[in-house]
Amino acid sequence: MGGTCHTPQDPEEQDDEKDQVLADKGEKTLESRSKIPPIRPKGTYHDLNQVLAAVNETYFDGALTCRITWSNRVGGLSFHSVRKDPITGENFHLISISKGYDAKNCPLYAVAGVVYHECLHVVIPVEEHNGRRVVHGRIFRQRERRYIYFDEWNRWHKEVLPRNIRAMRRGKEL
Ligand SMILES: [Zn+2]
Repeated sequence: MGGTCHTPQDPEEQDDEKDQVLADKGEKTLESRSKIPPIRPKGTYHDLNQVLAAVNETYFDGALTCRITWSNRVGGLSFHSVRKDPITGENFHLISISKGYDAKNCPLYAVAGVVYHECLHVVIPVEEHNGRRVVHGRIFRQRERRYIYFDEWNRWHKEVLPRNIRAMRRGKEL
C-alpha cells in the first residue's frame, strides 16, 4: 500500500510504527478501487455521520461531499481514499477513522479533529515537490490550524490514541 504515515504536527513523512495513526493515500487510490469496505459510521461512543455533518457545516459551508466510516482494521489508521461506487460507477471520497477514537476516553473535539484533518484531504490536492508527493504541504498545515481545538486534538492524538490502539491490539474494550 502506498500510504504515508505521520503525526499531524510532523511535516516529514515517517514510517515509524508509533506514527501509523494517520495514513493518507492522497490520489494514490487505484489499488483500493476494486472493493468497497462496509461503511459503518455508527460507533459505540461516536456517530461519525453526526461529527462529519458538524465539521462540514462549520468549516466547509456544508459543501463537502464524502462518506465516512470507522476503519475495519484493528490497527490505528485513519485515512482518506477515493472509491468507485459499484452501482452508479461514480467515484466518491471515503474517510476511514481509526477505531481508537471510538472510545469512552475520547472527547468529541478529538474525533472532530481527526475528521476535520481527513476532510482537508478531500479538498486540498497533494502537492509535488521535486517529484516527491507532499501530502501535508504548507497550505494544508495552515488550514489544519483553523480547527479551534487543534492543540487539544493534537495532544489527545499523540498521548491517548497510541495507548488506545495498544489496548485494542490486546483485545481490550475501549
Ligand atoms: Zn493527513
